[in-house]
Amino acid sequence: MNFELTEEQLMIQQAARDYAQREALKDVLERDEKAEIPWEHIKNLRDLGFLGMTVSTEWGGGGMDTISYVLAIEELSKVDASLGVIVSVHNSLACWGVEKFGTQEQKEKYLRPMATGEKIGAFLLSEPEAGSDATQQRVIAEDKGDYYLVNGTKNWISNAECASIYIFMAQTHPEKKHRGINAFIIEKDTPGITLSPHEDKLGMRSSDTNSVMFNDVKVPKENRLGEDGFGFKYAMKVLEGGRLGIAAQALGIAAGAKERAVQYSKERKAFGKLICEHQAIAFKLADMGVKIEAARNLIFKAAWLKDNNMPFGIASAIAKLYASDSAMEITVEAVQVLGGYGYVKEYHVERLMREAKLTQIYEGTSEIQKIIISRAMLDE
Ligand SMILES: Cc1cc2nc3c(=O)[nH]c(=O)nc-3n(C[C@H](O)[C@H](O)[C@H](O)COP(=O)(O)OP(=O)(O)OC[C@H]3O[C@@H](n4cnc5c(N)ncnc54)[C@H](O)[C@@H]3O)c2cc1C
Repeated sequence: MNFELTEEQLMIQQAARDYAQREALKDVLERDEKAEIPWEHIKNLRDLGFLGMTVSTEWGGGGMDTISYVLAIEELSKVDASLGVIVSVHNSLACWGVEKFGTQEQKEKYLRPMATGEKIGAFLLSEPEAGSDATQQRVIAEDKGDYYLVNGTKNWISNAECASIYIFMAQTHPEKKHRGINAFIIEKDTPGITLSPHEDKLGMRSSDTNSVMFNDVKVPKENRLGEDGFGFKYAMKVLEGGRLGIAAQALGIAAGAKERAVQYSKERKAFGKLICEHQAIAFKLADMGVKIEAARNLIFKAAWLKDNNMPFGIASAIAKLYASDSAMEITVEAVQVLGGYGYVKEYHVERLMREAKLTQIYEGTSEIQKIIISRAMLDE
């Protein structure tokens, strides 16, 4: 085992840290307040190579490994988890599946512009009636010969507005249940696709989240990803990698809150001494440090498995469950360490606490991760 990062991984970590601390931090409170898409940062992240960073160089991507990817997501999310999710959804949920399962033509047309970040991707699985139980797809893709006719509504779609390429799942053969689901790739500006206004969220407010409506949308046959009926498997495989990005995001949120709590505890005095000299506060910091270290190691292990082409789905579920639950606990405690100051926006930890909550919900709730993990244990 080697716990040392390579020079390249350290460089990517530093680049993400520099951007987050020097550029993203400046206007993060304003972005949280206004809940507007951070177009300028998206452009900068593209120029720095973070959008498409894990796509192979053959398709114009950065060709970076998963360890580098989780390091970058962690650093961005320490400062602004909205930027973390934009990068994560684009890389893991949009690019990765197309590279793994797409045809040469699909890769040429859709992956290449996503690999350079020229076009952003989104992943449309959830529906009003299909959340944790994604088998219940109600969006219908009727086979019309040389095209599919798609109708229905997707909801909770991250990057829905800032993306121009959509990967979506739809039911083609309802009688076959989840084996009848297909995955497709399509441009957002295809006639018949419309968006709701974006959701007014608790946290990650500058990451756009919308419902997407399909009304008689014609999707060419060649836009189906994988063989007929592969869509559910496609989505589950893609989410295994997606969860690693969310785990890294949770880690970043937790680490950002811990850094602020440590710093504050070394400046604030109560009862004649620094609050970090009160054991009750020092122990909170110790608990934060232990959880962060454990989460980081779980994430690295899952990323290492992925990079070495070994099964990583259970490891990524474990990493996501632990990192997101820990992020929630750590951010709540960080607010406590800052006392009243923790409760106001200027000190950032209340925002990090709001952001942490989402990591326990999307790309599979904590309960769903426990189902995945326990099933694997019971099958052993
Ligand atoms: C801001 C945001 C962004 C999102 N981005 C995307 C996106 O880009 N693409 C996309 O496709 N989806 C996205 N989602 C959807 C997200 O993945 C779902 O919200 C999530 O999977 C949970 O589904 P649900 O909200 O319908 O909750 P439900 O499935 O209705 O679950 C409600 C509660 O019941 C629990 N529960 C459900 N089933 C079980 C069970 N069998 N055992 C125990 N407990 C259970 C859940 O854990 C949860 O606590 C996003 C959601 C949000 C809020």
